[in-house]
Amino acid sequence: MSDTVSALWFDPELCLVGAEWRPAVSGATLPLTDPSDGSGICRIARGSKDDIDAAVSAAQAALDSDWGRMPAFERGRILTRLGQLVLDRVEDLAVLEAMDVGKPLTQARNDAIALARYCEFYGGAADKVMGDTIPYLDGYTVYTLREPHGVTGHIVPWNYPMQIIGRSVGAALVMGNACVLKPAEEACLTALAFAHLAREAGLPDGALNVVPGSGAEAGAALSSHPGINHISFTGSVPTGALVQAAAAKNVVPVTLELGGKSPQLVFDDADLDDALPFLVNAGCQNAGQTCSASSRILVQRGVYDIVRDKMAKAYGDLTVGPAMQDLRVGPLISARQKEIVTGFLDKGADLNMAAQGVLSDSAPDTGAYVLPTLFADVPPEHVLARDEIFGPVQVIIPFDTEDEAVQIANNTDYGLVASVWTRDGARQMRLAKRLRAGQVFLNNYGAGGGVELPFGGVGKSGHGREKGFEALYGFSQLKTVAARHG
Ligand code: NAD
Repeated sequence: MSDTVSALWFDPELCLVGAEWRPAVSGATLPLTDPSDGSGICRIARGSKDDIDAAVSAAQAALDSDWGRMPAFERGRILTRLGQLVLDRVEDLAVLEAMDVGKPLTQARNDAIALARYCEFYGGAADKVMGDTIPYLDGYTVYTLREPHGVTGHIVPWNYPMQIIGRSVGAALVMGNACVLKPAEEACLTALAFAHLAREAGLPDGALNVVPGSGAEAGAALSSHPGINHISFTGSVPTGALVQAAAAKNVVPVTLELGGKSPQLVFDDADLDDALPFLVNAGCQNAGQTCSASSRILVQRGVYDIVRDKMAKAYGDLTVGPAMQDLRVGPLISARQKEIVTGFLDKGADLNMAAQGVLSDSAPDTGAYVLPTLFADVPPEHVLARDEIFGPVQVIIPFDTEDEAVQIANNTDYGLVASVWTRDGARQMRLAKRLRAGQVFLNNYGAGGGVELPFGGVGKSGHGREKGFEALYGFSQLKTVAARHG
């Protein structure tokens, strides 16, 4: 049992259904493991179809009562209060996330602060989403209304539970939907903590329901439930396709936030000292288990050797260790994920390994540790340059011309994020248009994660947009009202 189990201030074996915290109907539970040392943290409810049925009914009941009638500004006040409660508990939430996900404490703290920002942002936006009046025929007045979908399902992965809950549940709630949240079975403590804080903030019964459990049971039951009116899914491509297929049977809209193989393009005229921390951090943050991780670094030939050497030096300085030691890189989420990433490293045996990080002396053998690894001179068609690895592994690819860089950058199935490092303003504008991605960053990467910035992919990175104001359109539907009054 982890030493930090005392950080739990709630019973983790319960689901939230309507007003009630209760065990799974079957009474079954699943173990949660601390990836830093492989020890058991606690057990969580193993929700299944019966629990999802009850949660959907509770959400429908909420829409028919106080929650469904609540003015937008009051929904916003609840979210804003929730943001303050999250801020008050930042350290507690960070400890939970660190032990559950293996995330270094500073990164876990940043996630908790981001969750608070989502609550603040969407709390403030609640009463600012407006329809239009549309000029039409003489004798008519036409306007549009933004209305909630109804019951929204939220299926969340283990890598950024707090941020993903903030951006999807936060936006769905302020638009007046009632949510059923299915967190990942590998990491769901902060989802439960969030629900406790939401109740404390005054969220009415049934507006948020949380059913932990496996993807095959609780996840599949949620995505195929006929009472769900919209699904937000974040996770892998194969599971996203299953969720979309299940939702299609009920003709339900789906937002898919899937994987990526995001490139950073470094041109000869770039400010390399400025770029370096972004190049490395975007690959090793959260041990590379980030959908928008930058796993491909494309470097123009004139500065190639310099960039490779600088990155190799930075990799040599990376130490991997337990989340509570708060190093730059923690363990992967699980022994299974370690196996997957190690498999990719084996596939890179033919490549030029430019550098590797080191393992902290205090990292136990039982933790899911993989050394951050940098490969140089990687052919663009190599499997490590094309497949999402979801671990602390980056490849450097040389290029000569702008056209070649764009061709390599766009030549994957994914299109989530891209960045360009150049002082040439015309090139910045050209590439912002030519790169196939949902977000393009010029002389930065990630823009500090801004909750205000719409986010989502093209191709196999998914469809639909979350974050920012745009998410509020996704979590609502437009009704056109045409009045003929003569
Ligand atoms: P996953 O698809 O295995 O699991 C994600 C969620 O789906 C979990 O809650 C899981 O329980 C649930 N699930 C599993 N099977 C299901 C099913 N049959 N029906 C319904 N739900 C089911 O993904 P993962 O391994 O947890 O996460 C890693 C992947 O997620 C990576 O590919 C990564 O790029 C992607 N990801 C994308 C984003 C983004 O915003 N684009 C963010 C985080 C992670």
